[in-house]
Amino acid sequence: MNHNSIAYFTMEIGLVRGIPTYSGGLGVLAGDTIKSAADLGLPMVAVTLLTRKGYFRQELLEDGTQIEHPVDWDPSELLEKLPHVVPVIIEGRKVLVGVWRYLVKCPTGTSVPVYFLDTDLEENSPEDRGITHELYGGDKAHRLKQEVVLGIGGVRMLHEMGIKVFRYHLNEGHSALLTLELLQWFRLDIRETWDEKLIWDEERVREMCIFTTHTPVEAGHDKFPYDMVQGILGDYFPVEVLKDLAGEEHLNMTLLALNLSNYVNGVAKRHGEVSRKMFRGYEIHSITNGVHSFTWTSEPFRELYDRYLPGWANEPELFVRIDAVPDEEIWQAHRKARENMIHTLAEKAGVSLSPEILTIGFARRATSYKRADLLFSDIDRLARIGEGRLQVVYSGKAHPRDEPGKELIRRIFSHAKTLAGKVTVIYLPDYNIESALCLVSGVDLWLNTPLRPMEASGTSGMKAAHNGVPNFSVLDGWWVEGHIEGVTGWSIGPQPESGQEPDYNGTGDAEDLYSKLENVILPLYYENKPGWIKVMKNAIGKNAYFFNSHRMMRRYVTQAYITTHSNGRENRNGRINGNGRK
Ligand SMILES: *Cc1c(COP(=O)(O)O)cnc(C)c1O
Repeated sequence: MNHNSIAYFTMEIGLVRGIPTYSGGLGVLAGDTIKSAADLGLPMVAVTLLTRKGYFRQELLEDGTQIEHPVDWDPSELLEKLPHVVPVIIEGRKVLVGVWRYLVKCPTGTSVPVYFLDTDLEENSPEDRGITHELYGGDKAHRLKQEVVLGIGGVRMLHEMGIKVFRYHLNEGHSALLTLELLQWFRLDIRETWDEKLIWDEERVREMCIFTTHTPVEAGHDKFPYDMVQGILGDYFPVEVLKDLAGEEHLNMTLLALNLSNYVNGVAKRHGEVSRKMFRGYEIHSITNGVHSFTWTSEPFRELYDRYLPGWANEPELFVRIDAVPDEEIWQAHRKARENMIHTLAEKAGVSLSPEILTIGFARRATSYKRADLLFSDIDRLARIGEGRLQVVYSGKAHPRDEPGKELIRRIFSHAKTLAGKVTVIYLPDYNIESALCLVSGVDLWLNTPLRPMEASGTSGMKAAHNGVPNFSVLDGWWVEGHIEGVTGWSIGPQPESGQEPDYNGTGDAEDLYSKLENVILPLYYENKPGWIKVMKNAIGKNAYFFNSHRMMRRYVTQAYITTHSNGRENRNGRINGNGRK
């Protein structure tokens, strides 16, 4: 057993097809993080929730209306139930938390355990058994209970299992209550003090915590009213001290994490800047996300890389040598991946795409800011440009309570009907890890059109790049760093530094999208195959080369986990110098 671990806390994690405990990019990133940690032999453990009903399985009706079904899965098929149990107090009741383990194994022998916390134990009341059932289900109070289990229960569980931790990594603010549990552990024994605040050794906690924020908008951060907090946590932690750490008005999980973490980062350079503006006074770094290269490379490209770039999966820097692969072989591998996708779509969506027509892919959570329907802003123009020359595949789930997100899916269905016979548009239901790999590798061009600056990073485009599929995207998130116009792919709309910010989310984006498609992308694809393959190779050699989670984890190690530079007193977040605090 490892006695000096980095503990990675995450509300969701997407590891393999059979474990549906994720909703989207945040969870898949967590899975990729742990896979890279295992490959690199890092002393890590992960802590998450055993959501027995998963997120949900998506069914789509004729008109695109989303129906949500619980996912039936049996944890005992892939996970091992461990004997350990720890208590947490919720609404004055003792709730027992159990744990299951999944081992992420690397072929070279190293592994990282993922611990799934579970309140569905016979000893608990029916209500409490349901706390961990659904990912992001229920109301605010329910969410807070889940966060108690994750943060407080998680720290207790690692302790119970005898796992010593020297760093806690908070993947988003959901697990920030773990800082309170640590404060309880390290309480200073100062007798005869008048000041209750002096007994909390914040400094010691801060030195152990790393916080990665993912949310570039104020409204996206978890906040709980203090009466709810007291109702659920009771007298677990003095509210006066908590207000000082987590905000006067609400318990703001992001503020709590910011105030008790010594290293804080955003998930792309741009997102770091945005976060520094949102949380003035805090030192916020950035480590740009990456994806797990082996996981996100399709079978035909794995075979190709094995032949020309042996060792690539554990050393994605080898993609720098992509020019060693003949063009013709790149194209053959892509054709195979495309055939796989066409086959799958025929089977699952009952539509057959043409292997001769440029296929655009757009798949991610269906939520307003991602603007999945920007492509249809001028439907006549799209039909004119794309007739017989373009086909489009969509996929993505809307959160069960996100009405605008659900409406977005219906709109795409209706546009698909309008365009029938000219531009084929497919919506593949139930987006998940497996279908994601199929789409990112099988299409020809990966589209992304978020409202700036809402795409903190985005990762699906990095997956596409691993399969030689170039990106065509708004310059936000990772693409600001990955884009070289006409070399690695194409931008939509203005450069971030061009000063057109007031207008940049307006009609200009659609205009640019259409004109680039018509004048640059379609002609290159149909009239200059060697030119197109050059861009495919650059997506691999310049994007996949960098935007992988092995690089990301090496950065976390040297910048966050074992560095000393962020401990400089003058730079420290939090109470000592009043940095960022009122
Ligand atoms: C990669 C992935 C995402 C994230 O996609 P973005 O474009 O970054 O939003 C979401 N869902 C699944 C299933 C994924 O594999």
